[in-house]
Amino acid sequence: MNIPFVSFEVMHGEIEEKMLAAFKNVYEKNWFIQGNEVEEFEKEFADYCKAKYCIGCGNGLDALFLILKAYGIGEGDEVIVPSNTYIATALAVSYTGAKPVFVEPEIEYYNINPACIEDAVTDKTKAIMAVHLYGQPAKMDEIRAIAIKYNLKVIEDSAQAHGATYKGIKTGNLGDAAGFSFYPGKNLGALGDGGAIVTNDMELAKKCRALGNYGSDYKYHHIYKGNNSRLDEVQAALLRIKLRELDRWNKRRNEIALRYINEIKNDDIILPVTAPDMTHVYHIFGIRCERRDELEKYLNNNGIGTNKHYPIPIHLQQAYEDLNIPEGTYPIAEAISNTELSIPMFYGMTEDEVSYVIEKLNEF
Ligand SMILES: *Cc1c(COP(=O)(O)O)cnc(C)c1O
Repeated sequence: MNIPFVSFEVMHGEIEEKMLAAFKNVYEKNWFIQGNEVEEFEKEFADYCKAKYCIGCGNGLDALFLILKAYGIGEGDEVIVPSNTYIATALAVSYTGAKPVFVEPEIEYYNINPACIEDAVTDKTKAIMAVHLYGQPAKMDEIRAIAIKYNLKVIEDSAQAHGATYKGIKTGNLGDAAGFSFYPGKNLGALGDGGAIVTNDMELAKKCRALGNYGSDYKYHHIYKGNNSRLDEVQAALLRIKLRELDRWNKRRNEIALRYINEIKNDDIILPVTAPDMTHVYHIFGIRCERRDELEKYLNNNGIGTNKHYPIPIHLQQAYEDLNIPEGTYPIAEAISNTELSIPMFYGMTEDEVSYVIEKLNEF
């Protein structure tokens, strides 16, 4: 049996006619930037998150960067980020001129350990980036309590967690502002790049909207030296179709995850754990194994696609050699990098395919 790590085939097959009609509609309207589709998608996605404002932008990295910039974070400031996340979280901080300060995760949940955050707070700290890694929300009550104590902003990196909830509240509505990515492989993915800022903060929403549009509040009037980072009409039209299916797709991901959790029985494999009060959307199903590279080769040889999220932690990336952080500084992030393996998880996986993955993992 051949099971890719991810496939869009079934998902896109089911909505093909609607997607093509949505594209044709934009094509015939001949209006491609800042039109009705983006406006409607922004309303619909804000409603979906039960938040007040949504601002489409070019991608998830820009969403995070624009939020930080709008909050005035820059040179001389520090922002706390988890030591295990996609590099975009840290890059968004670096682009403002501020410094990312890493905090270790709880290994069983893969999310930032709230008990370690206070040690990293200095008089330069301005914000905490709460990443909902792999689709599970971070422990937001604890994070918010620290933020209140030290007067910090809480910014959600929600790039992997569209639709996940914490104590019944959706991501995007759990901090001061959230950045989402609509990269094609994300749970809600465009057919290209896309992103959004979601917030209840009206001032921030206005500022982000201007910053992503050349710093302009109305045509040819510029109040900031802004960026060009906009969601386009075609992607917004396609995202509107997909948003209507998101909960159903996330539900299927949860069914697959439940089978993995109940049926994978191998002492060498550590399964992911969902913390109390959370619903997970399983952007990634990340298992851990001391013999990870051997396991990966074995699965690949048996026709099962895999991935690693992420093979090199940010503090050991060449891009961040200026921070001068030696190996061993963040042992939990390093342990995750060395042992994590992501197994197939996508809408459209059949029960037989799930059974096959489980069978091969149990035979390892
Ligand atoms: C994908 C991702 C981003 C960046 O999103 P892009 O749309 O690719 O710019 C940021 N943070 C995390 C955790 C991600 O997974």
